[in-house]
Parts: sequence; structure tokens; C-alpha cells
Amino acid sequence: MVKLLDIVGQDAAVALLQRSLAAGRMGHALMFTGPHGVGRRTTALALGGVLLCENPQTMPNNARFDQLDNDFQLTDACGQCNACKTLDAGTHPDFEVVYKELAAFHPKPEVRGRKMQNLGIDVIKHFLLNSAYLASSRGRGKVFVVREAELMSADAQNALLKTLEEPPPGVTIILLCRRSEQMLPTTTSRCHAVRFGPLPLDFVTDRLAGEDVAADEALFWASFTEGSAGRSLSLARGELYTIKCEMLDELAKMGPGGNAALGERLQKITDAQAIEAVKAAKSDDGAEMAKSLATRRATGVMLELIAAGFRDAISLSTGLDRPLVNADQRGTIESIAKKHSTRQLAGVVEQLSNYEQLLWRNVSSRIVWDNVVLACASG
Ligand SMILES: [Zn+2]
Repeated sequence: MVKLLDIVGQDAAVALLQRSLAAGRMGHALMFTGPHGVGRRTTALALGGVLLCENPQTMPNNARFDQLDNDFQLTDACGQCNACKTLDAGTHPDFEVVYKELAAFHPKPEVRGRKMQNLGIDVIKHFLLNSAYLASSRGRGKVFVVREAELMSADAQNALLKTLEEPPPGVTIILLCRRSEQMLPTTTSRCHAVRFGPLPLDFVTDRLAGEDVAADEALFWASFTEGSAGRSLSLARGELYTIKCEMLDELAKMGPGGNAALGERLQKITDAQAIEAVKAAKSDDGAEMAKSLATRRATGVMLELIAAGFRDAISLSTGLDRPLVNADQRGTIESIAKKHSTRQLAGVVEQLSNYEQLLWRNVSSRIVWDNVVLACASG
């Protein structure tokens, strides 16, 4: 099992949690904020382990955390007791993860039938509030982790307010979100905030190297995701890196008239990625993901990849002293930079973000891709 003291790259956050544990004033409503894939979920699980463990261990800090004195007493789960074992197996009855796809398991057919794009009040009521007021099975309290809490509707957040303010005895609720500003201020003000920063790039590249990702590719994903190990690992899993390299090469070679075949190909690639994502959601979470949502997400990532290339080109053309995200394709980025003025390059980046917005307004991905390629060609 992952223990709280085994979490790496997030010392400030873990030291803060250790201070609260030692002082016996661990908040009952916590908000873990930070980028996707930097360890918020793993830390929530590890903290759940400490709270539910039948035999928590303490040990002196001994220079583990710069933020704490050497004789500070750290607390962690034992890893051996029944609670620890069931938590590790994912079957602890008092540790519950709440996420929008749970709608597919809601007792009401009308809720199950909805293709949820937000975390609605029905899911929060059934899977969190109802359960929070039932006695814990193992008598050591209950821990709820709400994933992608920024997707909670205003109704859902309002329904949760009273419980965040005064949870039933022994209940801890951990909201995971990217930025606290994405939540209603009334929700944020009731939670104890714990900030998770980006992971150091070499930490992320080491993780990827451990998964046999080549050094160039690893450094690319680490920079592209701004230090998110989780996101890097999932992006590095498929063919996306090869696609990214080919796509930037094509864009660099393209004349001012564009390349209709490229638009078509990119649309087909994102379509195939969306089909994979729908399958993955089904096998990982048992959830139905709307194909349209999967297409928007896949297209969004490709647009982000192109934007990173054009941003790199801006850095080169303005002599900005920052490492390129696409350091692996410096020559390609130089060709893109030579073809357009800085102003045109900035225009492309802006248009890419507009096209991403359009996707969310149900404009077809084919139309978006044709326009993206033209925009990249003409600046
Ligand atoms: Zn234990």
C-alpha cells in the first residue's frame, strides 16, 4: 500500500498534513488543490490509510521533511492491519471515492441514463451524504474522496455545505480540485486547503524512464504537462508522441494554402483516440463516457500539443530565454518560427484556444480541424 510518508515530490503538502495529525486538529473537510497527476489522489488514499488504520505508527522526522524539526513525531498507517489490507485491496467499506461516473450506478434509472458531464446533486446525495450519516463499518470513522470536485454543480455544492461545515463524527471529506477558485467561495471557505505543486521535471522523467519511455519523449511529456507524473504517464502510453512529432513536421512543411489531407487525418486520429477513451472509461470505472465528450477531450489535447509548438516558435523568434517544450524537435520549431512573424504565431495560439472553446459548443471536430490547419498555414 502507498503510505503517507512514501509520497514523493510533495513534501510541503505532506508536512502540512503531518502537522495537523500531530496537533490532533486534522480538518474534517479538506481541499487538495493542484494540477492533475501530481499526487493528490494518492495522497488522499494514503491519508485515508492513516485515519482508518487500527494501529497507526509514529516515528521521528529525522530529516525526512525540511519543513519539520528532526524530533517531530510523524504518523503513518501500519500497512499490516486488517484496515490497511482492505484499503490496499480497494475494498475498505469506510473509504469511498465519489466521482461523476458513479451516476451509472445510481438506483434511479433517470440518473443512470444521463450522460453526465458534471458531478451532479444526485450522485453527491446518494454516494456521499446518505452514506456519511450511516455508522462506519469498522468503527474508525469514514473517509470520502471527491474526485474532480470542480465539476460539482452549484446544487451539489450547496447540498454539501452543511456537511462540510459540520461532518458527522469521524467523517473526513477530501475534495480534489485543480484550483480553489473553480469552486463556490462558500465551499472553499469551509475546507482546509492543502496545495500540491507541480512535480520537479527530473522526478517525472525518472518515473517515465521506469516505464521504458525514451529520454527525449520523457522530457517532452514532463515539460508539456508542467510536471504532472500522472498526466505524463497516461499521455506516454499510446502513440501520441509519434503523432505529435509527425504533426509538427507536417505543420512546419505546409505551404500557405494549408493541407486538406492533414486536417482529415488529424480528425481521424482524434476520433480513434476518443473510441479508445470510451473503452478505457468502461474498463477502468465501469462508466459510460459520451463519445462526444471523449472526442472533445482528445481534440483538446491535440490542440494543446500544436499550441505548445507555436509557443516554442514564439520563444525562438522573440529570443525568449526559456527551455523549449519541444526541445526534441528544435529544427522543426525553427522552421515554424521562420515562416511567420511573432504576431502571426501569437495569433495562431489565440485561435487554437478559440477552436477549443468551439468544440464545447458542439461544433463538429472535422470543421475545427480544417480550420486549425488553415490557421496554422496562414498564421
Ligand atoms: Zn494499519
